[in-house]
Amino acid sequence: MSTRTGMKAKLAIVVPCYNEEEMFPTSRSTLCAVIKDLAGKEKIASDSFVLFVNDGSTDKTWGLISEAAENDASVWGISLTRNCGHQSALLAGLMEARKYADVTVSIDADLQDDVNVIEEMMDRYYEGCDIVYGVRSGRKTDSFMKRSTAQLYYKLLEKLGVKSVYNHADFRLMSKKAVDELARYKESNLYLRGLIPQLGFKTASVYYERKERMAGESKYPFSKMLNLAINGITSFSNKPIKMVMHFGFFVMLVCLAAAVYAFVSYFNGDVERGWTSVILSIWFLGGVQLISFGIIGEYIGRIYTEVKGRPLYSIEEFISHGEENGDVREKE
Ligand code: UDP
Ligand code: MG
Repeated sequence: MSTRTGMKAKLAIVVPCYNEEEMFPTSRSTLCAVIKDLAGKEKIASDSFVLFVNDGSTDKTWGLISEAAENDASVWGISLTRNCGHQSALLAGLMEARKYADVTVSIDADLQDDVNVIEEMMDRYYEGCDIVYGVRSGRKTDSFMKRSTAQLYYKLLEKLGVKSVYNHADFRLMSKKAVDELARYKESNLYLRGLIPQLGFKTASVYYERKERMAGESKYPFSKMLNLAINGITSFSNKPIKMVMHFGFFVMLVCLAAAVYAFVSYFNGDVERGWTSVILSIWFLGGVQLISFGIIGEYIGRIYTEVKGRPLYSIEEFISHGEENGDVREKE
């Protein structure tokens, strides 16, 4: 196993922020303290930094980030031109961070994830892991609704053959090598939690209790969450389309049986008794067809966005305090 002893890695903590003005001061001080602490323990290079990505906030978030970045070398900031969504904002941060840092840790601005395990993540990194997942040991702080829908969703993903890490969101360490590999995936419908396990590499998990959001409200309304959930399925599995086909065959078989029944009834002479079955099958088949078109439509819609290949984000401003490093593949 390749270990990484004898070198101090430059760490970038990547934090997507959307309307996080209430959370930013705490996030900043907590994460900068983590950098300072780890640098003091000689676990990371002293020029490690926290990279805040402003995802088109409409409040004072960018003002706070840029002010901090002007005054503190360990705070870097990127501002996107518009609200591109959590996954794209995170990707933007990772893509920029890899140019300067040896290793990245992504974490949400609300600090629901335990920053104390970042040290453990770094230990795994030095042991040779390229990806370290932060995994929640429980979901006590989630509402009953969120917990049960999440669990159902993970089960569904598993059934559909989508590889994902149970109870892991987007709190993870990735080496520059892994992020460089991620950069080669050009998909528009981003579901990083599904994509990253596909990269391979040596991985590990660290466990923590997830806390409540410290300030502000959730920036994930139901519609955004649903879209992410559907992306998780459609980006990795064709099974729903196959299920539609299998269901079609099944319905055909049922129709065949119904035809036999209809013929028998016809020859027995009691034909006018068919109203119930006719009306039921019209509605039932109508429903089945609409659902099927809907599923196929979801895929077609996503193919449409993939084909256009539009950039996922555009950067308006980037406040950094370091030199870009060369290609990591040569360095390692
Ligand atoms: N976020 C973002 N863009 C968005 C929505 C959310 O960058 O369009 C960020 C948000 O600022 C936070 C992270 O994504 O840092 C996770 O959001 P949140 O904590 O609101 O989600 P929840 O924990 O409620 O699922
Ligand atoms: Mg949160």
